[in-house]
Amino acid sequence: MNKPKLQIIVLFQNLGDEKTYFARSPAPPLAGALVAGLTPPIVDVDLLHEMVRPIDYNTDADFIGLSFMDYCAPHAFEVADKFRKLGKTVVAGGKYPSTFPEEVIPHMDSVVVGEAEPVWAQVVEDMVNGKLKKVYEAPLAPSLDNIPPPRYDLIESDFAVPVVTEATRGCKYKCSFCQLTVKPTPYRCRPIEDVIRDLTATSKLPFHKRKMAMLLDNNLGGDMGYAKELLKEIAKLKLWGLGAQFSFDCLHDDEYIDLLVEARCGMAFIGLESLNEPSLSSVHKRQNKVEEYKELFEKLKKRGILTFTGLMLALDEDTPSYYESLPERLDDIDPSSILTSISIPIPGTPFHKEVESEGRIFDKDLSHYEGDHLVFTPKRVSSEDVFKAYRRINKYFYSWKSIVKRWWRFISTMSTKGNILKRIFRSLIISSVFFRLSIFQRDHAQKKVYTITGS
Ligand code: SF4
Repeated sequence: MNKPKLQIIVLFQNLGDEKTYFARSPAPPLAGALVAGLTPPIVDVDLLHEMVRPIDYNTDADFIGLSFMDYCAPHAFEVADKFRKLGKTVVAGGKYPSTFPEEVIPHMDSVVVGEAEPVWAQVVEDMVNGKLKKVYEAPLAPSLDNIPPPRYDLIESDFAVPVVTEATRGCKYKCSFCQLTVKPTPYRCRPIEDVIRDLTATSKLPFHKRKMAMLLDNNLGGDMGYAKELLKEIAKLKLWGLGAQFSFDCLHDDEYIDLLVEARCGMAFIGLESLNEPSLSSVHKRQNKVEEYKELFEKLKKRGILTFTGLMLALDEDTPSYYESLPERLDDIDPSSILTSISIPIPGTPFHKEVESEGRIFDKDLSHYEGDHLVFTPKRVSSEDVFKAYRRINKYFYSWKSIVKRWWRFISTMSTKGNILKRIFRSLIISSVFFRLSIFQRDHAQKKVYTITGS
């Protein structure tokens, strides 16, 4: 007898645009494959990332599981309403449903509030037996032991790096714009053997896709002792390339950088957010020191690790002269890739509370809270300043001339020590990651720039 079918859909779509836009990221987010891995075998599972393929409303799935970020909530409600009219049972979970369940519940058959691991098997069982409850309350910060490996085999072949996992959850810092401040949880580490098991649960993937992986932690270096032990174990896997996310201050620890190199880390995502010290202070990102950016990024470049960073505009201490100086200063610090965004007052964060209490929010349409729209009035710059800077930086940074210049600078900065064949192989891998990332971000930046909507 055929089993019932669950389709997990990870929404990711730019909304409010005339032309629908799908971001083709090299790696998928973790949530979908993770929940698929948690699903008991009483149902067949399918996984759809809206980043790479549109939703099929003619699916033969009986149940739909939705995962989405805050700004996708209005889209999620439309998708859920449509599926429910077609007779499907729709369940939602994740950060937004956990934070604002009262908004999500009316649109869904069921909502998981909290981290899904301890309750998901029960949700699926109840779904199959027709006993689904409206709300499943999961603990806010359960133990991370024994989480099954993500279902990489269900991830679309469009993703160049399907092997994604996390070693930790949470962050010891409290940047006022960060989603993690909404319902703060303690910093938690998974057992190292579980993380290694995830990174090797790849037998159903083509060989070349087993050799690259991404650790999608908020801050891998939140517990340095743990991070170092983990990297020592990852080094034994002899990957071709590893990506990791961690906070800027970790770069002070040379042993950590050595271990990243041994684990074959080729790309580090580090949120610089701003090159303006007062802007960083305004969002309590005090662990970042602008005067150290160049020197510490240089350390990574010399060791063959690409630096990918977020850069936020419209922070309260930004000024027109800061924006004017940005291309030159970026050139000096020389990150390999940047993700420029307009700061988002995510509901529930201290940043949101601040701008809201000052009556500065003029756009409450959540679908605009994705980093391309300006939804509040900044203190020292106009919306014209913000959008002009946004376009100018992206145009400059992602011109082919700048991309090739950065690539050459990177390759020529890499250390010339060690076995020549290994160095050539590493340069090829790093160059491939660099160009893929640059092309993705270039395309992303060109398609996502909105016309001025701020007042
Ligand atoms: S360092 Fe990063 S993850 Fe940690 S609170 Fe700040 S923005 Fe969030």
